[in-house]
Amino acid sequence: MVGQKGKSGRKPRSDGLKARPVALYIDHMEYQEGPKGKTRWAAVSWFQQFKRIYGSRWQEKTRSLIQHQIKKDQDQRMWMCGCSGNMRYHFKGSQVQCHKCGQWRNEHTRRIHDPNYTLRKS
Ligand SMILES: [Zn+2]
Repeated sequence: MVGQKGKSGRKPRSDGLKARPVALYIDHMEYQEGPKGKTRWAAVSWFQQFKRIYGSRWQEKTRSLIQHQIKKDQDQRMWMCGCSGNMRYHFKGSQVQCHKCGQWRNEHTRRIHDPNYTLRKS
């Protein structure tokens, strides 16, 4: 069952990583079970459907969706500099140069934004 104390889905692992909880707020609607029943909360229907489809794999699916979206954003909306890790990804629209390593998005943006730009003689 979901939410059983001490029996969460986290299994021992040896890759040096540890799964830690993050807060994800989902809208709920209050309802009453019968005329004198307990007050309960029901998640919005799209989330209920999501859990119905993916069952105990809903968190795994959520992580996979986030990773998929990030990959898409990096491919479509960002460019990479020579730095390492997350910092090498910059937004195409607003970040024309990496502040850390100084690399420009491309020659064109450099020509527009670099005050010290001079045409190379070849
Ligand atoms: Zn950089």
